[in-house]
Amino acid sequence: GLEGPADADEDMKERPPVVTIMGHVDHGKTSLLDALRQTDVVGGEAGGITQHIGAYQVKVKSGEKITFLDTPGHAAFSAMRARGANITDIVIVVVAVDDGVMPQTIEAIKHAKAADVPIIIAVNKMDKPDADPTKVLTELLQYDVQVESMGGDVQAIHVSALKKTGLTELTEAISMLAEILELKANPDREADGTVIESKLDKGRGPVATVLVQRGTLKRGDIVVAGGQWGKVRALVNERNQQMDKAGPTRPAEILGLDGPPSPGDQFVVVENEARAREITAYRQRMIKNKAASAPSA
Ligand code: GDP
Repeated sequence: GLEGPADADEDMKERPPVVTIMGHVDHGKTSLLDALRQTDVVGGEAGGITQHIGAYQVKVKSGEKITFLDTPGHAAFSAMRARGANITDIVIVVVAVDDGVMPQTIEAIKHAKAADVPIIIAVNKMDKPDADPTKVLTELLQYDVQVESMGGDVQAIHVSALKKTGLTELTEAISMLAEILELKANPDREADGTVIESKLDKGRGPVATVLVQRGTLKRGDIVVAGGQWGKVRALVNERNQQMDKAGPTRPAEILGLDGPPSPGDQFVVVENEARAREITAYRQRMIKNKAASAPSA
């Protein structure tokens, strides 16, 4: 396979957690992702996170870094799961306090449990008059989610994405859980990871947002991503700044691929262009064969 040798224990270094926000429509996923962007302490100096690139990393007050996947809905998460890739370490399930547990809340809990990913409950819209989180937390018991105040071990944080309250508590809860999970990766090897999203940009050509999971991706590396390959011409972060390299679990836009790969595709750095051509030719043959053998509608 493409995986290469396993990493030795002593090469494993601490890495930031990868967090996905899920929940029912209109419960505040987008608002919360926007509010969390502003917890970034680097933002003040560098002009803030300006881009929507499918994933972003913040450095919070305590100095810890957190990577958020900014994927609308469950589609990307499902696509990645279907490929057997667990790219998220923590799922934040947002529940609007006035609406309570709804079908997509239950679905989010089921997804996380099936993937064996720990969850944090964010009870949102706490600014609403008569907001009563106890009702929500009691409802969650039916779905096997027992929060700390009910004798369980799931953290529940009261937030208002609108008024930007509870965000520090939420990032602290994430950091605490990340510490328990002992998340590590070897930064000193050829990079691999997952494509979060991609597009064909008029000016820049194919642009893929990737999450580096192992190793360090560098400008100039030869990358195979799904059925596409290319030499990384530029690495761009969520502040629209060029980077020389990206380690675990930094999201980055990569420019230089010959076409846009699909969300959920794996990417891997290979030793040279000949190898990249060989792998992509093989993959494209596989894709064609699959299409040819699929029953027609
Ligand atoms: P999503 O569908 O889960 O992404 O939800 P959105 O972030 O789009 O929010 C849905 C609606 O709820 C919007 O009108 C938001 O302004 C509103 N909303 C989100 N967070 C809060 C909050 O903390 N308090 C209040 N009062 N409204 C909120």
